[in-house]
Amino acid sequence: MARMPTSADAAHGPTRVVIVGAGFAGVACARRLAGEPRAHVTILDGRGYHQFQPLLYQIATAELAPRDIRFDLAEMFARHRNVEARTAEVVALDPRQRTVTLADDSTVQGDVLVLGVGAQPNFFHTPGADTYALPLYSLDDAERVRTRLLELFRDAAAKPELVDEGALTFVVVGGGPTGVETAGAVAELVHEVMPHVYPHLAVAGAKVVLVDLAHMLLTAFSDEAHTYAARQLHRRGIDVRLGVSVREVTDRGVTLGDGTRIPSRLVVWGGGEMAAPLAFRSGLPQGHGGRIDVHPDLTVPGFPAVYALGDVANVPNGDGTALPQLGSVAQQTGDWAAGNIIADIEGAGRQPFRYKDKGIMAMIGRKAAVAEIGPHRHELNGRLAFAAWLGVHAQLLANAGAELNAFVSWADDFYLRPAHRSAALLDPSTIDEPRIRRSAG
Ligand SMILES: Cc1cc2nc3c(=O)[nH]c(=O)nc-3n(C[C@H](O)[C@H](O)[C@H](O)COP(=O)(O)OP(=O)(O)OC[C@H]3O[C@@H](n4cnc5c(N)ncnc54)[C@H](O)[C@@H]3O)c2cc1C
Repeated sequence: MARMPTSADAAHGPTRVVIVGAGFAGVACARRLAGEPRAHVTILDGRGYHQFQPLLYQIATAELAPRDIRFDLAEMFARHRNVEARTAEVVALDPRQRTVTLADDSTVQGDVLVLGVGAQPNFFHTPGADTYALPLYSLDDAERVRTRLLELFRDAAAKPELVDEGALTFVVVGGGPTGVETAGAVAELVHEVMPHVYPHLAVAGAKVVLVDLAHMLLTAFSDEAHTYAARQLHRRGIDVRLGVSVREVTDRGVTLGDGTRIPSRLVVWGGGEMAAPLAFRSGLPQGHGGRIDVHPDLTVPGFPAVYALGDVANVPNGDGTALPQLGSVAQQTGDWAAGNIIADIEGAGRQPFRYKDKGIMAMIGRKAAVAEIGPHRHELNGRLAFAAWLGVHAQLLANAGAELNAFVSWADDFYLRPAHRSAALLDPSTIDEPRIRRSAG
């Protein structure tokens, strides 16, 4: 395998590593290189913080506060002198020169360029979806969904006739983990929390509809999980419409492929994703989903000093397929790329990426989770699946700097307690109070 040129070769000081994106991949890469005297890291992120996407739906349903899942980048690396964290949007890149251009037109050049810019929602050209549906991909998205949900309840309380026009009909598009988790959480909010907040509002007319073109929920999971998820959603009163597309989204609702109209003022899009916009402007080879194809060592073909990691990359699985877009994949690619960068500095050979498969899992709601553990997909549901979810996500959160005891105790409490206890969160004065504490430093 070709060895990349580094500034260390020419005794020019530490190898300059420029990381774009502070998601699971970028942060893991920077963390592994932090304190490494032979590397100087610049990590750039347009938002300036790391967001913990697996809990976005908990923000959308007012169960957690934004601060619980937002981790300031500068704070994260404050103790590491060889890591410079900057809030900066990258608008263009030159992979040959390993140079990125920032929104203010300045440039940053590295000896090594690491791209961990993640993904964006894919609306599959559905008319009106990008205008009227709300995606759930960022903290801003989640706060928008939360604001809209609470507004709709306030409006319906003031004018109950709006319920007949779909003010309390919430449509979730997508039957994958994001759609299933979101629908479950919205249904609990709607049916178990809101009746305590608006006891005089006839919330009987409130409903949650989940739509997916596939004929089953959680397609990547086993048949047993499909049935379990469907049963749990039905138990929560969710109207599941499978095998039908969304033809159009407007400000008044959705029209399905079979002509059915569902009046709604809130359509949440969890219907798919593709590579982040920067991938389309990178000039790098793109494959499925617009993601950047990479070699087994995670570098981009033709660019031995450019890595693409996590959701923006098609990371080879060793069997001709690509690994799924998961936090664990992103985090492990970040750590692995840092290992290869160090190997290059030392003149040792880079290693092909090996994924430690943690399995796949989804938390459908309180007392309902499904997990398929490890490469052999050992099937779990209920309490054991929740325990597996907790283990995997605690590890991901530790990477960001959350206080694990606080996270585990919040999650345990969330899973076991009845939903109506979160009614307190809907008090506008407490809604933004953090619930998961941070570790010091
Ligand atoms: C709603 C939801 C729920 C999920 N639940 C789970 C789950 O339960 N378990 C699990 O394992 N995975 C889950 N995932 C998937 C997981 O979150 C992703 O696989 C993971 O976040 C990918 O990490 P990443 O580092 O590749 O990208 P991201 O985490 O998306 O980070 C990309 C970063 O790049 C920055 N960026 C993008 N473009 C630019 C630019 N031009 N300039 C500067 N910065 C830029 C962004 O600001 C962002 O911080 C979920 C995803 C979603 C959307």
